[in-house]
Amino acid sequence: MRAASRIDGLGTTIFTEMTALAERTGAINLGQGFPDRDGPVEIIDAAIAALKAGANQYAPLPGVPALREAVLEHQRRWYGLEPEDVLVTFGATEAIAASLLALCEPGDEVVVIEPYYDSYPACIAFAGAQRRVVTLRPPSFRLEAEGLREAIEGGAGRTRAIVINTPHNPTGRVFGRDELSLVADACVRHDLVCISDEVYEHLVYDGEHVPPATLPGMAERTLTISGIGKSFSVTGWKIGWCSGPAELVGATRAVKQFLTFAGGTPLQHAAAAALRLPAVHLAQLRDQLRANRDALCTALEAAGWTVFEPAGTYFVNADVGTDAVRFCAELPQRCGVVAIPTGVFYDSDVAPGLVRFAFCKRPEVIAEAAARLGRLGRPGAQPSSAAKSESASSAPGA
Ligand code: GLN
Repeated sequence: MRAASRIDGLGTTIFTEMTALAERTGAINLGQGFPDRDGPVEIIDAAIAALKAGANQYAPLPGVPALREAVLEHQRRWYGLEPEDVLVTFGATEAIAASLLALCEPGDEVVVIEPYYDSYPACIAFAGAQRRVVTLRPPSFRLEAEGLREAIEGGAGRTRAIVINTPHNPTGRVFGRDELSLVADACVRHDLVCISDEVYEHLVYDGEHVPPATLPGMAERTLTISGIGKSFSVTGWKIGWCSGPAELVGATRAVKQFLTFAGGTPLQHAAAAALRLPAVHLAQLRDQLRANRDALCTALEAAGWTVFEPAGTYFVNADVGTDAVRFCAELPQRCGVVAIPTGVFYDSDVAPGLVRFAFCKRPEVIAEAAARLGRLGRPGAQPSSAAKSESASSAPGA
């Protein structure tokens, strides 16, 4: 058997690898970003009610009407956007895959920001397109005009789209209006499509989330993607959506129908209920995550590392001053914590010491992880007694 070349080098995602490492070693998993607590009971009950009410067959291809309406209402209420169409997908990930397949010809170029979410380069490759990166560099991780210009000009007229992610995984940046204006100007000038992944839209601690579609000239060329997983702590539901101009959503739908068709029907009903919950649910989650962020940042600083405090998402990066890949491989043994070397999300080698820690865990789990990391970082510290061998068992939240 010989697999197709389009999967060359894909291997297993770092998230899968690191969660397996956490399970093997019993370490606290601050690697893959998933909450260790369920979302609001109201939406779990809505899912049960939908299951029992017979919402168990295929959904309509575009999604169940209640959820499509709730998404339109959400875009209007939060951002004043009036998308022409909306499509429900199997998580935001499917919307990204289907839109790239729908919009890119083989040989086209797609601009992505590095560090990037790992599915972007994979799906660009599936489409037969090439990626060109704009690099975010520590300490500011700002989107620079120069880098953006070079990436687009490098495409020599073949650039078709730009993928943007704000709030940004893995840096935690919430891009400002000034940075997004650079993107908008470039999209308008070069007639590019903007694929905007906004799954962390409600996890913002400092500043304000600005959807690129709200910038001048952008509503008609932006496919806005989001989902229920992060905002309501149900990442395993894989209910996402995209919205925007009819043409972009329609093209994405044409691909989506042959990837997975239409499913998750009861969860789509529950997602509609979630979007209609009072905004206090979002505020509570955000406030809890902000407290977690602060606790973890303090611990990472106390450990002696350079910490890049995130304005959004549930990830914080620290420069540990040594090879991060090796550091992360050894971390479970050394102190019973798993984290991710951020360099795997870069093509270039600008941040070899950067490590990403997820803080979407219960406060007591974050406190324990903070204590373990703190002991590790102290000069002369011995490996923590919490560290377990490769056979072991149950850390809180592992
Ligand atoms: N979005 C999650 C993260 O960045 C992981 C999702 C996945 O495992 N593919 O941690």
